Amino acid sequence: MARPLDPFTGDAALPARTRVVVIGGGIIGVATALELAERGVPTVLCEKGVIGGEQSSRNWGWCRQQNRDARELPLATKALDLWEQFGAESGENTGFRRCGLFYVSNNDEELATWARWGEFARSVGVKTRMLTGDEATERGGFTGQRWKGGVHSQADGIANPGLAAPAVAKALIALGGTVLQGCAARGIETTGGAVSAVVTEMGTIRTRLVIQAGGAWASSFCRQLGVSFPQATVRQTILAVSTGALTLPDAFVSKSISITYRGEGCHTLAISGRAKVDPTLQFLRYALDFLPMFARRWRNPKLRGDIDLIAWHGTTLCIVEVKTRTRRDLVPAEMAVDSDKQDTLRQLARSYLRRLPAAAREATIRFDVVSIYLESPNAKPSHIELNQGAFGWA
Ligand SMILES: Cc1cc2nc3c(=O)[nH]c(=O)nc-3n(C[C@H](O)[C@H](O)[C@H](O)COP(=O)(O)OP(=O)(O)OC[C@H]3O[C@@H](n4cnc5c(N)ncnc54)[C@H](O)[C@@H]3O)c2cc1C
Repeated sequence: MARPLDPFTGDAALPARTRVVVIGGGIIGVATALELAERGVPTVLCEKGVIGGEQSSRNWGWCRQQNRDARELPLATKALDLWEQFGAESGENTGFRRCGLFYVSNNDEELATWARWGEFARSVGVKTRMLTGDEATERGGFTGQRWKGGVHSQADGIANPGLAAPAVAKALIALGGTVLQGCAARGIETTGGAVSAVVTEMGTIRTRLVIQAGGAWASSFCRQLGVSFPQATVRQTILAVSTGALTLPDAFVSKSISITYRGEGCHTLAISGRAKVDPTLQFLRYALDFLPMFARRWRNPKLRGDIDLIAWHGTTLCIVEVKTRTRRDLVPAEMAVDSDKQDTLRQLARSYLRRLPAAAREATIRFDVVSIYLESPNAKPSHIELNQGAFGWA
């Protein structure tokens, strides 16, 4: 079984002063500190545990452009280049490889969405290819299932989450940065309203600039400074599995599972699209900011399909289907909600209503379709249409 996290030895002495303090040694903190060190900015990184010891060593490891929103795609493309460049320039091993990501599905609508995304992606130079049913079934042979189709995003890749953050931290030290482990930042001192120091478990560092990269802890740290940083923490489980004689793809996802090669004969196995929210005080504090997001893509595992958005319009409960197009066809986007899709949404709506308190079940229900057209070169929505009451119960 591959080691879950590469051990890393940091610095022992706390500098009295520096230009920038980065709080948090996950992938965001180490990458930010590395960028500063490359620009010759004296930087100290404080990590309360070990480098990469939290979320950054527990993810799928996908470095992905596939299915990205048009607005984040340029950033994802740049990130892939940076992963490649980092390995070549630093000599450190993050396990990054452009092995391609492999998706399969039996859902016609999902396959059609991927095909449309592929058209858009190719128009901006991103390589991705739809797979026929035979190709998807052959490549996904280990599932023992027949697949209607799939997609292979050739230029995407994976890195090893157990290696990545420690590798970047090593490169940071080589450039003269300071990395302190077991050194929680407790608070920030100000003088005349400006940051003047960071108070840590190991002592105080004088600085004028602090970058908070504390992952799931960022919100509570900011709150003690009077800074509101809405954050919702979700919990998901992934497993490291040894695959024995079974030959598995490097990176595979279906509606129910994802599998990613992690190195040394070991894969990461995760249940796709399932995350749990713990109703903690922290969650409740910002619940109103995030509830609309959690109500998106509502599913009942026993039924097919999902509801894109559930929202209240006054006392009317709206079941909203969102359709996106990269160009305006003769057939408008909302026409994609055919009678089959309407039946699916009605079934899901009934199931959703059964879970509501009795009083809410009496609400008027409206089925809306939002059509979004992304026609401009920067893929910003050029036109949005809301068709209220696009169809009814019958
Ligand atoms: C199931 C799952 C799968 C994912 N898959 C992918 C994927 O395939 N590809 C992808 O790119 N992303 C993926 N992600 C997202 C990715 O894991 C996160 O975006 C990323 O790890 C966040 O990094 P981070 O540095 O912000 O946080 P973290 O890794 O959590 O690092 C924050 C660090 O800050 C430290 N810290 C906090 N408070 C303090 C303090 N006061 N003083 C000192 N240190 C402190 C913590 O100890 C921690 O080490 C996935 C996420 C999940 C949940």
